[in-house]
Amino acid sequence: MSDTSFDFKGCTAIVTGAGSGIGAEIARELGASGAHVIVSDMDGASADRIAGEITEAGGRADPCVADVADAAAVERLVDFAVEKGGALHMAVNNAGIGGPSAPLGEYPLDGWRQVIDVNLNGVFYGMRYQIPTMLAAGGGAIVNIGSILSSVGFSGASAYVAAKHAVAGMTKTAAMEYAEKGIRINAVGPAFIDTPLLSKNLDAAVIEQLAGLHPAGRLGTPAEVSALVCFLLSQRASFITGSYHLVDGAYTAR
Ligand code: NAP
Repeated sequence: MSDTSFDFKGCTAIVTGAGSGIGAEIARELGASGAHVIVSDMDGASADRIAGEITEAGGRADPCVADVADAAAVERLVDFAVEKGGALHMAVNNAGIGGPSAPLGEYPLDGWRQVIDVNLNGVFYGMRYQIPTMLAAGGGAIVNIGSILSSVGFSGASAYVAAKHAVAGMTKTAAMEYAEKGIRINAVGPAFIDTPLLSKNLDAAVIEQLAGLHPAGRLGTPAEVSALVCFLLSQRASFITGSYHLVDGAYTAR
């Protein structure tokens, strides 16, 4: 079970894309901190596996298959969380894909639509249904997973960069709209993190090159992202809303 110092007893949390990488680690840490975790992923087997790990370690979790690019599926996911947990208090809109790598003038149109559907529309659908449900519960906290590429560019990744910049802007706007109503909304911007998103799509030499782009001299870990996400979800971050928080080994400081 994850090392944690947070107390989320009595809270229900949705984590999307929780079957792998960063989302799985956030789900584990929330579970270890007492939250009832709705472990959501497009891949049912991986959602089952992570939910199983949490319950075996003594926590509470229910798996739920949902494609975040499908608004109706996201609405059902939120309903499922309320059915299982009684209310929704926290959500982490984490599911994301890398998409094709190509210069903008050659970028495949279907790849563009897919990245925008998952990485941007998926976060919008999440907040669109989470917010009314949290209002009914008297408030809540949302963290949207952006990227360093929410604030800087990256050659070959125009769709991903556009979606992640938009996530930062949408987060700030939603936070302003709901700050007085008790919902805090923040975005987190990880640099390159050692997850299957990298290892499934890139060879070892490219990954090593990416690691070297961080002044810290290495990739980040899912646990290092989860620690920041859990802090932002917690009451210790009670005056933090509407902002974008880097966890990037000084990548964007250059
Ligand atoms: P990951 O290991 O690939 O995990 C992402 C999970 O989301 C996978 O289980 C994936 O399922 C699932 N998923 C993909 N499309 C989905 C959809 N439409 N609906 C629901 N679930 C879906 O990736 P990760 O590295 O943990 O990334 C998590 C988030 O962090 C993403 O938003 C990513 O952009 C962001 N991020 C990652 C890095 C990094 O370097 N790793 C850096 C900055 C930001 P499948 O495996 O079946 O596709």
